[in-house]
Amino acid sequence: MPRKPTNKSLKAKAWRLFSEYIRLKYADSQGNCRCYTCGVELPAIGHGMQCGHGIGGRGNYVLFLEEICRPQCYGCNVGRSGNYEVFIPKLISEYGQDQYEEWVRESRKPLKRTKGDYLDLIAYYEMRLEGERERLQRETEESDTSL
Ligand SMILES: [Zn+2]
Repeated sequence: MPRKPTNKSLKAKAWRLFSEYIRLKYADSQGNCRCYTCGVELPAIGHGMQCGHGIGGRGNYVLFLEEICRPQCYGCNVGRSGNYEVFIPKLISEYGQDQYEEWVRESRKPLKRTKGDYLDLIAYYEMRLEGERERLQRETEESDTSL
């Protein structure tokens, strides 16, 4: 009998889908995206581009909070531990100080997710990913025919 998925494995799967979705959401028709904090341009998938968070700690609330998640290169996300001195002011300039502080306050409250919550996230981001893949496919075809 196949093993039932655990909460941990469902969370990991939801995170993989979410991370890929964030990178494709900001990708251009060539499939490249820019690091939010240093501007380096890299293929969205498979070349060290990651999904970075504008609030540290990877708590359950911020982990899947789209607004504070952006493509980030390995150097910024890991090497510079998130490069927050660039990340945070940039998010605040987009959303405002009050909104940012509200997210930080929310992030400090405990949040538990059930297996059902993760299954919902998985279904939702599978759908969103498919939408981004179709958009990229369409844009690639359009840029091919305009040559
Ligand atoms: Zn970077």
